[in-house]
Amino acid sequence: MEALGQAQELRVRFETCPLCEGRAFVPLGETGCRQHAAWSPVLPEKLAWVGCQTCGHVFTDGFWSDAALARIFATEHAQQTPGQDVEAARRVSAKVVTRVSELRGEFSGRWLDVGFGDGSLLTTAEEFGYEVVGLDLRESCVRRMREFGYTVERRTLVEYQDARGFDVISLCDVLEHIALPKQALVKVKNLLAPHGLLMVSCPNLDSFAWKWLDQRGQNPYWSELEHHHNFGRARLCALLVECGLEPIHYAISERYKAGMEVVARRR
Ligand SMILES: [Zn+2]
Repeated sequence: MEALGQAQELRVRFETCPLCEGRAFVPLGETGCRQHAAWSPVLPEKLAWVGCQTCGHVFTDGFWSDAALARIFATEHAQQTPGQDVEAARRVSAKVVTRVSELRGEFSGRWLDVGFGDGSLLTTAEEFGYEVVGLDLRESCVRRMREFGYTVERRTLVEYQDARGFDVISLCDVLEHIALPKQALVKVKNLLAPHGLLMVSCPNLDSFAWKWLDQRGQNPYWSELEHHHNFGRARLCALLVECGLEPIHYAISERYKAGMEVVARRR
């Protein structure tokens, strides 16, 4: 195994809050991440979480360097691999596509799914009548969806270029992985057509379901190696507004525990 340097060099410290640029953080504790599927012995064994004293955002004290991400993305998550539980995932995705389409009043247009993972939302949106494009950082996911003829790229949202505009952009359990979510959401706004919709899902740390997991010591998100942020509904919605996106709908997510789904419209 090639050396990646000392564990601390794999993390880039947040000097300021990634949402509000505040400089005062309070430590919220450390959790072990050795049990995570993407963990390897070159990575640190613990993640430290902090809270911003200015805006209340909860995030890790640093994010992965490119070298660390290359190692993490070389692993496969069974749950995020195309072809896993196709029918069950299709049923969950169909509810998302239906809800977003009903809010739009249309079941067609261009849909960009960022971090398509198992491909379920991407392929279900296509099934409903959308022209779909997918982005993912795992080479194995991109390769498998290409084999089925889908337009997919291994590229970050911020790197991605498109001149036509999307009617829908989905970030399903993706925003909490992105070191600088505000930059990503501004990019979403710029990629959306006028009045286009963003569907963002992530765990909701304001929910009773989250507090219940915490109280029982069973909250998986504090040891989620690939997450840099834990959002609550209020902080997420405020961030969307700051980025020119108006929250118009809230629902719970069936994808993961304590999950929320917020739909926002480009203003
Ligand atoms: Zn802040």
